[in-house]
Amino acid sequence: MGTHRKTCEVVVVGGGPAGLTAAIALAAAGVATALVSRRPPAPDNRTTALLTGSVAALDALGVWNLAREHAAPLAAIRIVDDTARLIRAPEVLFRAEEIGLEAFGHNIENRHLVAALEARAAALAHLARFECGAARVAIGEDRVTIWLDNGEEIAAPLVVGADGRGSLCRAAAGIETETRSYPQAALTVNLAHARPHAGISTEFHTEAGPFTLVPLPGNRSSLVCVVEPLEAERLAGLDDATLAEETERRAHSILGRITVAAERGVFRLATETARAFAHSRVVLVGEAAHVMPPIGAQGLNLGLRDAATVAELVADAREDPGAPALLARYDRQRRLDVTSRTLAVDLLNRTLLSDVLPVQGARGFGLYLLDRIGPLRRAVMREGVMPLAAQPRLMRGELP
Ligand SMILES: Cc1cc2nc3c(=O)[nH]c(=O)nc-3n(C[C@H](O)[C@H](O)[C@H](O)COP(=O)(O)OP(=O)(O)OC[C@H]3O[C@@H](n4cnc5c(N)ncnc54)[C@H](O)[C@@H]3O)c2cc1C
Repeated sequence: MGTHRKTCEVVVVGGGPAGLTAAIALAAAGVATALVSRRPPAPDNRTTALLTGSVAALDALGVWNLAREHAAPLAAIRIVDDTARLIRAPEVLFRAEEIGLEAFGHNIENRHLVAALEARAAALAHLARFECGAARVAIGEDRVTIWLDNGEEIAAPLVVGADGRGSLCRAAAGIETETRSYPQAALTVNLAHARPHAGISTEFHTEAGPFTLVPLPGNRSSLVCVVEPLEAERLAGLDDATLAEETERRAHSILGRITVAAERGVFRLATETARAFAHSRVVLVGEAAHVMPPIGAQGLNLGLRDAATVAELVADAREDPGAPALLARYDRQRRLDVTSRTLAVDLLNRTLLSDVLPVQGARGFGLYLLDRIGPLRRAVMREGVMPLAAQPRLMRGELP
């Protein structure tokens, strides 16, 4: 054993929202956990619509009380067909109260969410922090050894790879990914506006992709505008006043006069799914396991369910937390949830892009049915916020 080597039960690599949540959930369950996190190169200006299960989980972990003042409830979701096509779908408004909820979830800026997670992580006795990068990951028979940028070594029987899209842990475990790219990019920018949003998130479906306004506290909203990559770059390069005008035009002025914040983000749209979510003493969570387009607010909600699942399985395990049986159980439990969400997002995006008349008709007819048939409408709303696929206890507010 090297002089600097430390041991613990689980090492989490990556301190984004998924990794922080996994580390907190593990430590809260009494598991000796180390979190290795390198600061991200650029600040994150994205926001996340956290669905009810995610909010319940963060509440149970003692994070939500640190975050809630920065979050806006989503009381309703409106879908508007803004295409100029022959067959257009009716406007549909889904209200959370129809399924007995005050809100479908809450929208929060990632920087506030991460700050709340950081503050909670700092207060947990079973959580050791290493504020540097993992440089090398070596998988042995009964443990994984991680060499850090600062020369230290940590070893544990299980590693949670929460190190994002280019995951080092995933590569070390020899897990490949399936990727699909789309001819689109998302521009993200936060806005202030003259009229209140009334807790309604509005999605304009255009031929290039969705243009989505999601409420933030006060008269503010976040925008995710999916367009062709060159158009996203053009919009991101506009001065504040011109971008504000362009945004107001695309939003049909429903929020009145708009001003835009300085920070903008441009993200190429892609789907990337790991062929295995766990292998060789490595469990993948968040974007290390699955990247999906920012359509329908699924990405991080899946990441939080990954984090809750691994914490629950490790807390319930009597012995080796990196045993093949536990890894197989994790992979099985996450597979249906991730693949069904990836397919749904892909399908919606493709029907928007399609110029084929029957496809447009099917989308319009689908929305028409959702608008008219109460039980179907409520079933779809419930599945959106509370998926039928097996859910970890934490999503119901119970600690692992
Ligand atoms: C435009 C847009 C809008 C979105 N909107 C929503 C939404 O409304 N709802 C939703 O649920 N999801 C949404 N998502 C998805 C969501 O943002 C992501 O799922 C989420 O940010 C991923 O979190 P993560 O912790 O898995 O990864 P990341 O945030 O990428 O974190 C990975 C971390 O690992 C660190 N790291 C990497 N390598 C190492 C290493 N070797 N050693 C140590 N640390 C390392 C990185 O520095 C980083 O901090 C959106 C995505 C986009 C692009």
